[in-house]
Amino acid sequence: MSDSSWNTGAEAPRILDSPEEVLTTLTKDGKRRWLYPVESKGRYHMARKVLAYFLMVLFIAIPWIPINGKPALMLDFVHREFAILGLTFYPTDTILLMVFMIGILLTVVLLTALLGRVWCGWGCPQTVYLEFLFRPIERFIEGAEHVRKRRNEGPRTFDWFWRKAVKITIFFAISLVLSHTFVAYFVGWENLLVWLQGDPREHWGFFLISALTTGLILYDFGYFREQMCTIACPYARMQSIMLDRDSLIVSYDPNRGEPRARRSKKIMAQEAAGEIAAKGDCIDCFACVRTCPTGIDIRDGLQMECIACTQCIDACDSIMDRIEKPRGLIRYTSENVLEGGRTKVLRARTFIYSALIILIFSAFTFVLTTRDAYDINIGRVVGEPFTELPDDRIANRLRFRVRNQTAETSSFDIAPVAPQSMEMRIVGASPVELEPGEMTRVETWVILPKSAFEGTSLEGQFELSFSDGLSEVLSYTLLGPNQ
Ligand code: SF4
Ligand code: SF4
Repeated sequence: MSDSSWNTGAEAPRILDSPEEVLTTLTKDGKRRWLYPVESKGRYHMARKVLAYFLMVLFIAIPWIPINGKPALMLDFVHREFAILGLTFYPTDTILLMVFMIGILLTVVLLTALLGRVWCGWGCPQTVYLEFLFRPIERFIEGAEHVRKRRNEGPRTFDWFWRKAVKITIFFAISLVLSHTFVAYFVGWENLLVWLQGDPREHWGFFLISALTTGLILYDFGYFREQMCTIACPYARMQSIMLDRDSLIVSYDPNRGEPRARRSKKIMAQEAAGEIAAKGDCIDCFACVRTCPTGIDIRDGLQMECIACTQCIDACDSIMDRIEKPRGLIRYTSENVLEGGRTKVLRARTFIYSALIILIFSAFTFVLTTRDAYDINIGRVVGEPFTELPDDRIANRLRFRVRNQTAETSSFDIAPVAPQSMEMRIVGASPVELEPGEMTRVETWVILPKSAFEGTSLEGQFELSFSDGLSEVLSYTLLGPNQ
């Protein structure tokens, strides 16, 4: 290795041309500046890679994993039924579901306050698929970053064309798989496989959504890329209110790195020997900038565009190894630590968030575990409030709406309880079968002698007995003539 082997002389990547420029991905005239982030292999890269492949497999597998007879996660908006890890939420559980979602949201806020943008860098599908699926394929087909840049900026040759064609075809195939998996979260693979074999006109809505999702995925990972994080993502925009000086961030240590200077190993040896004034540990090699997927320079301080992907940590660590300096010039830290203080994990906001999360999930668990196995509702069938029969009796036409909220198939019967003179005729078969999660409506005629009414109404009682041994008695106001 030569004395100046880490100072490759490579042209420093252009960051921002002038203070008026605000984005690293735009040129002065507002055109897209294409980024070619170099892959930096290191300990964080390896850990993220393992997690990324695990998450990819999980995303594909979840709609296939049954829990309590339903996919591990299924958001069936058409039937207004949401299955989450074996729990099924129905329209009657809207408040319960809202409480659950608020709990999840607060958990994200707490994790962001503690761990910063760890989700963006490690778990977000945008980062996971771009960095560990689409970009590696692109590198394999089109070559390393400097080769791709040269080819893209050069004339349109056959070599350029066939590589683009192969890449886009593979990207399209992946987008198809991802979009269908995504749609399976809403309709289930069972339905999806049947629809895929049928006439598209029968399920045009599904084909439209699948085609749109495929197009969006292809556009995002093929073209839009880092702009999703720097321009479009609302979570990224809210970072400034969720982070504080104790949150974990990926940061350059200016105390150690400054004054930065490009210099040879020989000069650094002289600095170490005290022969000349020592500069900071940053040798201004731009490795951290060249690897950044959002094109920023971490040495400019905490920026909204930083997705905490840790690529600059790996890049800088490998430079530190080469110049025999301790790793960690760029590292996970907090603003307080960089200013000589300590990171406070227990602070007012994390304490309040944690207390709220415990409260919300405790209430959620309580309501969920005490939730009725069957959701039952009685209503009057639209039309006449009652019918006077020729034999001096009064008939009310009622509708019982019953939902099976258990995970087992069940059946039920309806019987009159009070007053004793009440008769009941069920329209249709009885007992009534109910699949898990199914809701059914049963119409009945409730008949009473006119003499049973003292005024214009009386309270009738009905018992619903289920095949699993549960039963419930409900009351409903029956109407009669004015006497
Ligand atoms: S921070 Fe590290 S990687 Fe970035 S320019 Fe300085 S020495 Fe190079
Ligand atoms: S600055 Fe570092 S951590 Fe932030 S996005 Fe760029 S490479 Fe990733």
